[in-house]
Amino acid sequence: MIPRPLMFFGTTNLDLCFNVDRLPTPGETLLGTLVRNPGGKGANQAVAAARLGLRPYFYTRLGDDEAGRALLRSLQEAGVRTDAVEVCPGELSGSAMVMVGDDGANMIVIDPGANLKATPATVEKAAAFIEPGTIVVAEMGIPIAALERLCALKADRGFELIFNPAPVRTGLSTEAWRSVDYITPNQTETFELTGVEVVGFESAAEAALKLLEFGPKAALITLGAQGTYYRDGSRSFAMPAFPVKVLDTTAAGDAFNGGFAAFLAQGLPVRDAIRKATAVAALCVTRRGAQESMPTARTVDEFLNQQTVLELE
Ligand code: ADP
Repeated sequence: MIPRPLMFFGTTNLDLCFNVDRLPTPGETLLGTLVRNPGGKGANQAVAAARLGLRPYFYTRLGDDEAGRALLRSLQEAGVRTDAVEVCPGELSGSAMVMVGDDGANMIVIDPGANLKATPATVEKAAAFIEPGTIVVAEMGIPIAALERLCALKADRGFELIFNPAPVRTGLSTEAWRSVDYITPNQTETFELTGVEVVGFESAAEAALKLLEFGPKAALITLGAQGTYYRDGSRSFAMPAFPVKVLDTTAAGDAFNGGFAAFLAQGLPVRDAIRKATAVAALCVTRRGAQESMPTARTVDEFLNQQTVLELE
């Protein structure tokens, strides 16, 4: 079966990751080792889907700088279609400085750079790549006005919209919320949006009801190592996470969102798409890094076959 078209809208950053023994205190200078990795939520999600064998389009804004060229190349190498990517003369690409201590604790500073200058007009131009039946995934790193335009285009273009509200920002209109088919916050984002502290599936159920009141047709709340809770107008269920040996949880949510979109595009029913996306995220946390930790479709299938054997034993 030919998959439905897929398009991501979001941010791209160059992550400067310093590994340090421990995080510095103010005024202190420490030695660490630097690794440069492609990152940004939108880019991670698009790469997750591409690693699973899809050929998603991606709208993002890059600077006309060395980082931008490296980021564009790495998206292309991963199999992401970059026709809608804007390379912006005179602007700097987004970058993040990440410090990770030996105990896994981290500190992050982001300069969004070119990501912040997406406008309603630039999003509308990129939306020319949305074909009928497309699944569109948007995260909240691009400005609200630009997101609003994307949501407003939905009625006309007839796409399905997965909205990952990260990082949470206020100001999205009621009409925009109503255009969302699936909202996919993690626990922190759910708290910021609803005021409900999600500690398990019971509190997730309560929070999901509140999320649906904003207007989305379905809510998927991710609860880290616990899994995911799903609710729409007529049904709800919990999908437990797979027990794995965790090495680095960076981009777990991006793996989940990219995977969910990819499996929906391949025609899987929602519950099956969530189960497979849960496997994608589980495999992601067993490896270090963001985009380089995204599994292929084959690895996901082998992992799930193994789980089935374990469940039968
Ligand atoms: P985010 O990375 O956006 O904070 P979560 O931490 O909620 O998102 O993780 C997203 C998904 O990744 C979870 O729903 C779960 O399926 C998977 N996941 C996260 N942490 C683990 C873990 N420690 N073990 C197994 N799966 C995990």
